[in-house]
Amino acid sequence: MQVNENKVVSLSYHLEVSEGPEAVRTFVEKTEAGNPLTFLFGVGSMIPGFERALEGMSQGDVFDFSIAPEEAYGISSDDEIVELPYSIFEEEVKQHPDLLTIGNLIPMNDGQGHTFQGKVKSVSMETVTMDFNHPLAGKTLHFKGTIESLREAEPEEISHGHVHGPGGHHH
Ligand SMILES: [Zn+2]
Repeated sequence: MQVNENKVVSLSYHLEVSEGPEAVRTFVEKTEAGNPLTFLFGVGSMIPGFERALEGMSQGDVFDFSIAPEEAYGISSDDEIVELPYSIFEEEVKQHPDLLTIGNLIPMNDGQGHTFQGKVKSVSMETVTMDFNHPLAGKTLHFKGTIESLREAEPEEISHGHVHGPGGHHH
């Protein structure tokens, strides 16, 4: 069996990132032993470059590949850097004086039920500049790992577009 459409893939991985021509890699995350990442292949739940690199692999295969930002979380955009009035943070800052520390990630919503993670870029008396780019935007991703297991997806999983059971959704 190979990794392709309508397969449930379980894999372990170790992710590092780098930026630009720099060869320096920074560790981001890894799966823990016995707790692989499990997902339904081909439904767009993973970034495109990740699925493309895994397609055709078999159980037990070891992988080591890199994904350019364009195929991962995109390029950082200045359009995602927004100046907000300091006043909207005022109440929150009273309770959490460290809230607006540069580099802090703050969950925010647009009042229509969408939540965004914003990173504090700079703070003045009047404004707070927030960066809403994905934290991994502009980064090249380096994945190493192993295909732990593979199975056919159940028809119900395919119609729901996600995995049921271990590592997946529970209804
Ligand atoms: Zn479901």
